[in-house]
Order: sequence, then C-alpha cells, then structure tokens
Amino acid sequence: MSSSVLVTGGAGYIGSITVERLANAGCRVVVLDDLSKGHRAAVAEGVPLVVGSVGDVELVSRVLREHAVDSVIHFAAMSLVGESMERPAEYYDNNVVAGSKLLEAMAAAGVEKIVFSSSAGVYGEPESVPIRESHPAKPVNVYGDTKLVFERILEWRSEASGLRYISLRYFNAAGASENFGEDHRPESHLIPIALQVAAGTRPELVVFGDDYDTPDGTCIRDYIDVRDLCDAHIAALDALDRGQKGIYNLGNGEGWSVVNVIDSAESVTGKQIRRRMGERREGDPARLVASSSLAEKELGWRPAHPELGDMIEAAWKWMLRCPEGYPE
Ligand code: UDP
Repeated sequence: MSSSVLVTGGAGYIGSITVERLANAGCRVVVLDDLSKGHRAAVAEGVPLVVGSVGDVELVSRVLREHAVDSVIHFAAMSLVGESMERPAEYYDNNVVAGSKLLEAMAAAGVEKIVFSSSAGVYGEPESVPIRESHPAKPVNVYGDTKLVFERILEWRSEASGLRYISLRYFNAAGASENFGEDHRPESHLIPIALQVAAGTRPELVVFGDDYDTPDGTCIRDYIDVRDLCDAHIAALDALDRGQKGIYNLGNGEGWSVVNVIDSAESVTGKQIRRRMGERREGDPARLVASSSLAEKELGWRPAHPELGDMIEAAWKWMLRCPEGYPE
C-alpha cells in the first residue's frame, strides 16, 4: 500500500471517510481542501489539513514534496447537477482546469499515481442497465461532462508521461462511518433529506416525479455504502502499485426506487416520513444501476454492506450523533 497519500477534498463527505480509513490502515495522509464545501471537523484527528486550492501549483507541489507523497486521491470538485447547469464556467474551472493544474503539480513533484473520483453522471441517459464501463459516455449535464473531460485528460496524460491513474465512477453514495457523515448545505440528497424529515428538522420530502417507467413510477438508483466506496479507493491504490490502470464503476448492482428508500428510512427510524408527490427534477434518468463486475475482478473489491437498510441505519446513527451536522 502507498505510504503517503494526498487526499484533495478530504474534508468532504466521501473524502473524510476515505481519510479515516486510510489512516486506520496505517497510511500517512495529508488533506488539501479549500473548505468551500468541506468541514474542518470532518478531517480525522492527527491528519494535517492544508487549506487551499488544487489549482495552486506552487502550493500543491510544495505539499507533495514536504509530505513525501507518492499517490493522490482526488475528490475536490463541485458536484451538484442543477448548479452545474446554472454556473457551467465555475464547474469547468474547478473540476477541469484546477484538476489539470493538480496534474501539473504532481508532475513537478515526481508523483505518478492518482485515483480520481468520477461519477455515473458520465453515462447520461442509459441505453441499457446494468451499466458497464463500456457503455457510451454521453453526459446530459455539465457536471457529468466535467468528470468525463478530466478522465480524458488522465488518459492522454498517461499516454504521454509516467502518470498512472484509476478513475472510479460512483453511483449513489449513502450512509456514514461512526464518526463522519453527510453534511451538505443546502442538502439535496434523498437519504439525508428523508432522515431530516424523520428527525423533525424538515417538514416533508418532495418526491421528484412518480410517472417514470419503473414499477412504482419513481426513479431507481444504485445506492452504495460510503464505507465500501472508500475502501475501493484503497483497493485502487493497491491496484496502481500492481501496474493496473483504468476506469471502474462502483455500485451495488441493485436498484432501489425513491419510494423504497423512504419506506426503508421509515422502518429504520420508526418514524413516519411525510412525503408529497412533486414534479420531475430536470436531468434525472429513470434508472441508474451499475455493473461493478470489473472492479470485483480487477480491484478485488465488492461491497461489504450491500443492504439499503444498513446504509440508512448508519446515516441515521450519525444524524442522531450530530443533529446539526459539523460545527462551523
Ligand atoms: N429525490 C427526490 N426528492 C428529493 C431528493 C431526491 O425525489 O428531495 C430523488 C431524485 O430525483 C433521484 C433520487 O431521489 O431520483 C436520488 O437523488 P439524489 O439527489 O440523492 O442523488 P442523484 O441520483 O441525483 O445523484
């Protein structure tokens, strides 16, 4: 396993839990985060946090050298589909231009290995499910396109130089670890919203459309336990050390509808979750379910927590522990 890892976006939801798991596995970790969305309190105790931008080549190359980093896990990005359609320039600047600067800093410091946090959003409206990595990548929003463009940069840079990369295309991350969880402001994701209604801090949940071509008419997503997702990054670092590279889906291979999620949240919390049917949200495909068989075969990774109820329970425990989220 890598001895020293820079985690960009390590104060965010998936980044913070990856940092925790890397540190627990005995790895030296340094976090770079501009704290625009992340939380200082989400960085595990004892892990150094550098507050700054991944696009700051001088800063990043200095951090890489000072911490003798040999691999980077790159999470730092803007990640809201709706916002990306309203502010595309910022998405390309942050997710593509600043990301490219990060690669420049890595090259300057002689760091060759990177694991990239990509998204199922690169596929767009699926032509078939479950979705394999060979499925055409035709993003239907700016966010998905920024992830795809950065994957292409990785591929071409790896052709041209010593860069070695693995890109992980996540489906829907869910749940929490014991210490760290999901705290987006404002919150837009289904599971935390359902739990906020259960906790009484939000009056109701609006279901975004019940006229989709699915059994109950609501959208189906592949929810993957965030702890499993984070472990896949550690497996990817090991795979890079074995000389592997490429693109892998990370999902459960099973889909749950919005109604399934709300019902499961009711049974985990023992509370009624007030729901109201609303309009479709723009850009939502009816069904997104992953085939993760390539990750299983080549990374030796498979979800250890495949049950939706377990993910929701972990998220609920974290919410009860930190009802206000992280302190500012
Ligand atoms: N969703 C919903 N109401 C909400 C938030 C989300 O019905 O308040 C639906 C959304 O349309 C999608 C699913 O829940 O079908 C998961 O949405 P989320 O934003 O959590 O993740 P995404 O699939 O957009 O990455």
